[in-house]
Amino acid sequence: MSAYLFDPPPIVTVPIEGRAESFPVRRILCVGRNYAAHRREMGGDDRDPPFFFAKPADAIVPPGKDAAYPPKTSNLHHEIELVVALKSGGKDVPVDRALDLIFGYAVGVDLTRRDLQNAAKDKGQPWDSSKGFDQSAPISAIKPWTGAPPQGRIALSVNGQVKQDAVVADMIWATAEIVAEASKLWTLAPGDLIYTGTPEGVGPLVKGDKVEGSVEGVGSLAFTVV
Ligand code: MN
Repeated sequence: MSAYLFDPPPIVTVPIEGRAESFPVRRILCVGRNYAAHRREMGGDDRDPPFFFAKPADAIVPPGKDAAYPPKTSNLHHEIELVVALKSGGKDVPVDRALDLIFGYAVGVDLTRRDLQNAAKDKGQPWDSSKGFDQSAPISAIKPWTGAPPQGRIALSVNGQVKQDAVVADMIWATAEIVAEASKLWTLAPGDLIYTGTPEGVGPLVKGDKVEGSVEGVGSLAFTVV
């Protein structure tokens, strides 16, 4: 007999490469302006440090599923990102222990209603509707990983044309620093995902676009905007 007024929402999960178990998602944190060239293309000041925002867990678009073009925008943008998947948590985690929290990595796209984001910036309003909308977080399978984090090529193409092409090593906050910084603001927990920011070359998507993204050594994802 259920004590709930209605059925609780299902647990959001992401498949794990080579494993029968899936990864249950607790929440999604995201890093903004973590690559200098993208910070410049967004009009940012070179002295501004990266920062965090969030998406709800149910924004995840699992591998093999397409992403719906969202309402209330005419400027949906792609942002290819390395995603960190946590197997353990903590707060005030020292940077030299931060990698111990990481289960693996995935390839993600931080879909953004750029027009709503620009309007929010102009008015000093929050980013939730520009970043945390339904189906705003496509992701690949998670690749289990130990040791030094990915540093290689991160790239995204639209309809076969390369739009973003950079290296993860260019991140302003490196992976361990991202986890350590996040743990100063939140108590991290198993199931947390962190989208680590996008390099330069973000741009618009329209219905029918075929998006492919990859991070060297981690994997790839592909979806169509429908
Ligand atoms: Mn982003």
